[in-house]
Amino acid sequence: MIKKIPMRRCIGCGESKEKKMLIRVIRSPEGRIMTDPTGRAAGRGAYLCRDPECLRKAVRRKSLNKALRDNVPAEIYAELEKELRAE
Ligand SMILES: [Zn+2]
Repeated sequence: MIKKIPMRRCIGCGESKEKKMLIRVIRSPEGRIMTDPTGRAAGRGAYLCRDPECLRKAVRRKSLNKALRDNVPAEIYAELEKELRAE
């Protein structure tokens, strides 16, 4: 049997990629917004390529706010940027 690769759409460039290639950001059931390195945390999730350009696009279009239906704090963007630069 062929294993199906889970694909997710990046909120920056809009391309679908392998889930494990993307960074997941979630809004937890308690309403906390955080990055989810495990990809398993409960909550509404949004995905971003490991590409600073996609993060910039997402910031400009407020895609993350829309995807998570909440205001994403500046710390989260800073955290994402740090993570992307570390790649
Ligand atoms: Zn992207």
